[in-house]
Amino acid sequence: MIRVVVSGAAGRMGETVCEAVEAAEDMELAGRADPTLDAPLGDVLGSADVVVDFTTPEAAPANVRESVAAGVHAVVGTTGFDLDALRSEVEAARAGDANVFVAPNFAIGAVLMMQLSRQAARHMTECEIVELHHEGKLDAPSGTAKRTAELIREGGGNVHEPIHAVRLPGLVAHQEVIFGGEGQTLTIRHDSTDRRSFMPGVLLAVRRVADLPDPFTVGLESLL
Ligand code: NAP
Repeated sequence: MIRVVVSGAAGRMGETVCEAVEAAEDMELAGRADPTLDAPLGDVLGSADVVVDFTTPEAAPANVRESVAAGVHAVVGTTGFDLDALRSEVEAARAGDANVFVAPNFAIGAVLMMQLSRQAARHMTECEIVELHHEGKLDAPSGTAKRTAELIREGGGNVHEPIHAVRLPGLVAHQEVIFGGEGQTLTIRHDSTDRRSFMPGVLLAVRRVADLPDPFTVGLESLL
């Protein structure tokens, strides 16, 4: 059994992760950390093999540092903080063989959207990204949009600035990448209509994080 502590357990994503972990036969929900529950991560960390963090851009880096310093693996879904800075901090704080896995998007459809966009950029270079999220999302543009832009640029594409960020009630997590060429456009769109869309990716990362070859890994595509 993999003992999992969920950080941000009272949040929209954290609650869904707790349900998914409880339903998984090879996992045990070992603790819930969240200020709303008056439960600091440090109080429950000792019972964990893996911490799953869906918190805020301010809280996540400290939570990850605390986890790896205690020798506990971390799976991170929180977005909106500097990944390069966290990578250096993790290298400094790491105790034992604790690994960190970060994904800006755990939905398989979103990973495919990013990969297909990179492929399309080789043939249709000019594009714009429109990301649409619920009104409670703190960061803009989204981590998924920033990662998509990186991949498109790696593929030779030209992402027009700015990336468009829409925040409205009724939305969950959505993104369109629109490529334009002479007399034609191509739109690649992904919609997460339910937070359960992220759960297979989160559980896969929990199962795999201990065996990753690198201490700091980014992107669900590296597990597929
Ligand atoms: P949310 O509903 O606001 O939940 C965040 C929770 O974290 C809140 O309950 C918050 O408590 C708690 N928290 C704050 N500081 C904490 C700390 N130091 N330790 C533990 N918990 C803490 O947000 P959400 O919609 O679930 O999203 C969470 C993050 O996941 C965001 O960054 C979002 O962009 C990201 N996300 C990623 C994916 C993906 O696939 N990677 C998918 C969806 C969302 P308080 O309210 O008391 O501050």
